Amino acid sequence: MKPYRMPELFSQLTKAIEDARDDIVALTVDLVRFPTINPPGEAYTPCAQYVGRRLSSSGFDVTYMRGEDTPGDNDKYPRTNVIARREGKYPGPTVHFNSHIDVVIAGEGWSVDPFEGVIRDGKIIGRGTCDMKGGLATSIIAVESYIRANPDFPGAIEISGTVDEESGGFGGVAYLAEKGLFSKPRVDHVIIPEPLNKDRICLGHRGVWWAQIQTKGKIAHGSMPFLGDCAVRHMGAVLNTFENDLYPKLDQKRTQMPVVPEGAKRSTMNINSIHGGESDDYDGLPSPNVPDICNLTIDRRFLIEEDITQVKAEVVDLLEDLKSSRENFDYTIEDIMEVLPLMTDRDSPVPNAVADGIRQVFGKDPQYIISPGTYDQKHIARIGHLHDCIAYGPGILDLAHQPDEFIIIDDMIQSAKVMAFALHQLLTRGT
Ligand SMILES: [Zn+2]
Repeated sequence: MKPYRMPELFSQLTKAIEDARDDIVALTVDLVRFPTINPPGEAYTPCAQYVGRRLSSSGFDVTYMRGEDTPGDNDKYPRTNVIARREGKYPGPTVHFNSHIDVVIAGEGWSVDPFEGVIRDGKIIGRGTCDMKGGLATSIIAVESYIRANPDFPGAIEISGTVDEESGGFGGVAYLAEKGLFSKPRVDHVIIPEPLNKDRICLGHRGVWWAQIQTKGKIAHGSMPFLGDCAVRHMGAVLNTFENDLYPKLDQKRTQMPVVPEGAKRSTMNINSIHGGESDDYDGLPSPNVPDICNLTIDRRFLIEEDITQVKAEVVDLLEDLKSSRENFDYTIEDIMEVLPLMTDRDSPVPNAVADGIRQVFGKDPQYIISPGTYDQKHIARIGHLHDCIAYGPGILDLAHQPDEFIIIDDMIQSAKVMAFALHQLLTRGT
C-alpha cells in the first residue's frame, strides 16, 4: 500500500509532539504515582479518573465502566475502566488506543521508590513506566497533538485505560469486549501500546494452557511411611517423566511465527508451582505426616502450528503411562486457563499504517514480531471479533516487571510520532 503523505501535517505533528516533551514526562510521572498494583487492584479508580479528567479536558466524552462481578471485583477494589471517545467532523472509521493501567508488584531490588516516577539520564524510572503507563501517556500525547494539528479529522478516536491485564484482563478488556466496546461498527482499528520496542510491530502471541495436576497418596505417620503412600514422591515421578519424555520433545517444536526472544520460537513449559505436605506459611514444627496430596501447576506455551487438543494429550498420555507403570499412581488434571495463539495478518490496515509511521520516523522497515506471552489482544479477537489489532509501544520489552523498570523519554516522543502518523492514515484512508 502506498504511504499516505501530507508533508505539512507531518511536520506540524512532529513539532507539536516534540514540544510536548515536558507534558509527556509529567503525564507518565503522574500515572506512575498511582500504585495500581494487581493483585489486589489498588488505586484503579483514582488512576482511571485521572485519565478521564485529562481526556475530558481535551474534548473527549468520558465514561467509566466497572467490571462488575469479575475476578477480584469488590467495593474495596472496584475494577474501574475508563473509555474516552471523541467524534470527528465527518463520518469515518474509529481508531482505538487501549492501555492497561494495572501494574505488577514492585518486588525487591529497586534503587529508587518504584512509585515516585524518578527522572534520570533521559529516562523515567518506576513500576509501570515501561509496562505500560509510558505507552498510555505516549498515545494520549499522540492523539492530543493530532487533534490540535487536524481538528477537522474524520471518524472517531477512542482511548481506554483498562484494568487487570496482568491477571488475565477479565475485569478490563474482556468485560468491555463483552459489552460490545471492541467490536464493529463501534471500533474498526485497535493499537495496544504495550512495550514491544518502538520500531517493532507485534502481531499477536503464542498460545497458553495452564493446568493443575494433583497426585494422590495416603496419609500415615512419618516414622512409618511404608504404611502410607507419598503423593510428593508420585509427583516426583511426574517431574521425572516431564524431564525425560516431554521437555526434549518441546525443544524440538519450532515455529514459523516471528516470536521474540529467540528462545521462545519453540514450545515451552514452566512449572509454575508445586506444593505438597505441610503448608509453606505454617511456621511451627511440622507434624510427622506422609503427604496424601501434591499439586503442580504447569504453564505451557504453544505455537500456531500446534493443536490445543494435542498439547493437552501429550501431558495426559504421560500421566496415563505412569498410571499403568507405577504402583498406586493416581492423578487428576484440571484446566485453569487456555488461550489460542493469535497472529494478525501483517497486510491489515493497522500493521500497514504503523509500519508506514515507523518508516517515516526511523527511516527503516519495522520488525514484525510475536509476543512470547499473551496480552489483551486475545479478548479483542475472541470476544470482539475484531482482528485489525496489534501491539505497538515505546517501552523495551525486557524491562517489563523488572526492578528499576524505566522508559526512555526520546523513545516516547518518537513512538508518539509513529502513533500520530498511523492514526492519520487509518482515519483518512479512502477519504
Ligand atoms: Zn503490559
